This record gives sequence, C-alpha cells and structure tokens, in this order.
Amino acid sequence: MNKIVKTKAVVLKKINYGDTSIIVSLYTEELGRISAILKGARKSKTKPGFIIDPINFIEIVLYNKRNRDVQLISSADLISNFSNIKEDIDKLKYAYATIELIQNLTSEEEKDLRLFKGVTKILELFNTSEELPGVIFCRFFLFLIKELGYQFSLKQCAVCRREDISNEDLAFNFETGLLCSNCKKNYITTHEINMELFNFFACLRSNNKIRNNAEYLSSKGVYFMEAYLKYHINNFKGLKSLKLIG
Ligand SMILES: [Zn+2]
Repeated sequence: MNKIVKTKAVVLKKINYGDTSIIVSLYTEELGRISAILKGARKSKTKPGFIIDPINFIEIVLYNKRNRDVQLISSADLISNFSNIKEDIDKLKYAYATIELIQNLTSEEEKDLRLFKGVTKILELFNTSEELPGVIFCRFFLFLIKELGYQFSLKQCAVCRREDISNEDLAFNFETGLLCSNCKKNYITTHEINMELFNFFACLRSNNKIRNNAEYLSSKGVYFMEAYLKYHINNFKGLKSLKLIG
C-alpha cells in the first residue's frame, strides 16, 4: 500500500542514478533512515534536485511503500542549508563526520525522535555556535554512544568502584571500563586516560565549556570514542570524513 508521508529530513548522502535521477540517503523524523529516489532531478535545475544535498535540512513529501527499498520523493522544501557550515572547512569536516555516524550506525527505517532532534540540534550548533567544531562534535559523539546503548562511565573505577580518582594515572579497558591506578595493573590497558581527558569528558557530560586546550582534547576525545565504538561495533570502521578533509 502506498502512503503519502510528509517529514523533515537531514540529507546524508546523494548519488547520481541513471541519466537524470538521484538516489539519496535521508535521516527522517517520521521514518528514520531511508533511501529515496528523486526522478529527473538532474534534468533541469529543478528546485528539489538542487536543495537535496548532503547536510541540508529539508522537508519532503514521499510515497512510502513498505517492502520497497527505495522510496519515491514527490517534493522537497529547504528548511536550512546551514550556510555558515559550508563556508568553514573545519565546521564542514565535523558536520560530515556527524552525518557519516548517522549513516553508518543507525538501522534502516528505525524512527528515533531523540536522535533526530540531536542531529538537527548539532548541525544548528555547527552553524551558529562560536564553540570549536571539534568540541561540538565530541558532545554529539558522546550523546550518540549513549543513544546506541554503549554509554561508558567515567565516574568511578569499574573494578573497585572508588570515585575519587581523577588525580590518578587512569586507564581504560574497552571491555571493563575505567580503571584506577591500582586496578589497572591487573588488566590490559586499551587506552590511556590522563587527567586532562578525564576532565574533558566530565565537562562534556555536564555540558560545561571547555576552557583550555580544546582543540587537542577534542581530537583525543574523538580518537578515544572512535576506538571504543570500533571495539564494540564490528562493522564500524571509523570515521572517513575526518581523514578526507585535512
Ligand atoms: Zn580500582
């Protein structure tokens, strides 16, 4: 049965199809992640063909048919093209990393309003906030890890449960969690967590501003979360976007 669905969506990917069409991957508010085709999009400079571009926030109308892999787009309107993101290579890099995570870590047709709101909010932040794009991205990455069910605790040692450990030489084991200076002797360390990184995550969690060393810490933070997710999700191979652009 065909159902006409009107929904907001973030464009994740776009590829040419046939002579004039495009196939896109969309993260939609109503249907989760879907693939859809816009026929004749490249025939002339049609408006929908022009605005359906990666990162853009749009509203589409589509004919949704269950059991069909690719849905049919009938119209599209632009909500925001986040023009500031596209003028700043650093913002762009991390915005691409954001949609790459959504493309690779969400299941098809799994509606998730919280995640949808999270994605649109983070793109809006890249667009308007003065905060370093790397830090904004870390906030999103941490949120996503929690949404996916892989939240890690940095509150206490995962073994002896001591909490007052932020001044110690800490370590992290991807299976066990955070290890204090005593307990780490008995485990394989899969990642070092120094005090700076520990405090950085604490700031992200409590939504505080990162005052010092933000650039360095956000790259360490991304590296840590990437490695952590690679360990837990077999088919996650890491982020390409961050390597492609500077
Ligand atoms: Zn311990």
